[in-house]
Amino acid sequence: MVGSEGEVMTQTFENYVDGEWRASETGETFEVVNPSDTTEVVAECQQSSEADANGAIEAAAAARDAWKNTPGPDRGAFLRTTAKKMDERRDELAETLSREEGKTLSEATGETGRAVDIFYYYAERAMDYAGESYNPSAQGQNLYTVREPMGVAGLITPWNYPIAIPAWKMAPALATGNTVVCKLSKEAPTVYLKVMECMAEAAEEHDVPDGVVNVLTGSGEEVGQPIVTHDEVDAVSFTGSRQVGDMIYEQATDAHKRIQTELGSKNPTVVTENADVEQAADIVSGGAFGVTGQACTATERVIVHESVEEEFVDALVERAENTEIGHGVEDPGMGPKASESELENTLDYFQTAEDEGATIEYGGDEPDGEEYEDGYFVQPTVVSGLDSDATVMQEEVFGPFAGVMTYSEIDEAIELANDVEYGLAASIVTDDHSQANRFVDEIDFGIVKVNEATTGLELHVPFGGMNASSSETYREQGEEGMDYFTIIKTVYDS
Ligand code: NAP
Repeated sequence: MVGSEGEVMTQTFENYVDGEWRASETGETFEVVNPSDTTEVVAECQQSSEADANGAIEAAAAARDAWKNTPGPDRGAFLRTTAKKMDERRDELAETLSREEGKTLSEATGETGRAVDIFYYYAERAMDYAGESYNPSAQGQNLYTVREPMGVAGLITPWNYPIAIPAWKMAPALATGNTVVCKLSKEAPTVYLKVMECMAEAAEEHDVPDGVVNVLTGSGEEVGQPIVTHDEVDAVSFTGSRQVGDMIYEQATDAHKRIQTELGSKNPTVVTENADVEQAADIVSGGAFGVTGQACTATERVIVHESVEEEFVDALVERAENTEIGHGVEDPGMGPKASESELENTLDYFQTAEDEGATIEYGGDEPDGEEYEDGYFVQPTVVSGLDSDATVMQEEVFGPFAGVMTYSEIDEAIELANDVEYGLAASIVTDDHSQANRFVDEIDFGIVKVNEATTGLELHVPFGGMNASSSETYREQGEEGMDYFTIIKTVYDS
């Protein structure tokens, strides 16, 4: 925005509650800065309070029946118009995402496109998603199920996919007739507030009742907590850290609420003796350094057959060396970390790796250069020589980090791949189909990939982890993403 004196003004965003844009009752805002250049303030957003959150929840509860009784095709039409408006603003949304979160423009464009597709997908599914009919009973009763919305869905989202993750929770929740209250991460809320602009216009065009969609910004403690604990919230869907996720899982289950938590991970890729080493290095560098390693599916453990270790490490280091680090919107090979605390966390892990005796094959620090002074940049990092139980081989670094270990027999490779508390995404790079099949059978991860990076997912298939990565009961995305937001009613009709 440009002011009357020609100076660039930072846009202030309000919460979207009960069908209108609303400032927080606190009267306070917080700044969202560009992690590539922290002198740039991308936006100001509302520092909302518990009272703001309660107001949004009450608005969602008041709209519950009206939206439940809106036919699926009408809900779908609203989502389709939202998607169309997002599509028209695709470049602007991608640039905003890149500026506030640091992703390269290509990565941000990919994520934005995914969010648009998610809205289109659930717009279609809203029309045909229903219960099932069964053979009549011996007594001649007609038997069928209906899938009813849970009611009010509380959505709590992280900063690392700030447009895709709120979209993949919100679209299925709305498609199935739930009203929603969504708390965006304070690190990168702007892009989704722009999605809300699209949605607010679409709501107006389709006469969507006020209160069906509510989106707020503010801290987890002030705004996230009421979403977990308020009596009027029927289902909570959370994506974020294990620490917060495990805590709110207990709170929600104690309150007999449905809850879904998608948390962190420590994802392995196995490289077998007969793999194409260049292809394996491409796959691992993509999985480890893509989105600056800030993906729940990022590759952090690399388990390489001892016969190809040297060749593989050389090839991976070459890719790390050739990764051009830069400002997100200039579309380099790799953008910054998303925040100061995230940068510090990653640098601390690099130090821990050194302290625990790792060989730093490449990186391990911030890059040198004036262009990096105002941002949260870090080098892509390859380490070797650590045991499976070393801190950086067990805990989520959430930065561009690949820890290489070796194995001699495939049993050992699978054992090493499973030797973490988490279980989100695992992959194997191999030319041997029988080894790939064994890996698929024996790996304890929710997503398994053959000759692909651990990162990357399709919107129409179930997504979720095992063990400490997820509350395993429910999956996100695809039809399963809709199942989570519904409850089955079984009808006997004589
Ligand atoms: P986080 O710190 O756990 O925050 C996630 C969300 O929870 C934020 O909106 C945060 O608010 C909110 N929150 C914090 N404390 C809360 C509380 N007491 N009650 C309710 N809400 C609270 O996670 P993050 O750093 O944003 O995200 C990174 C993590 O997410 C990584 O561990 C990553 O692996 C994981 N992740 C998992 C998946 C998956 O699908 N498995 C996908 C993406 C990311 P604030 O605005 O205050 O931070």
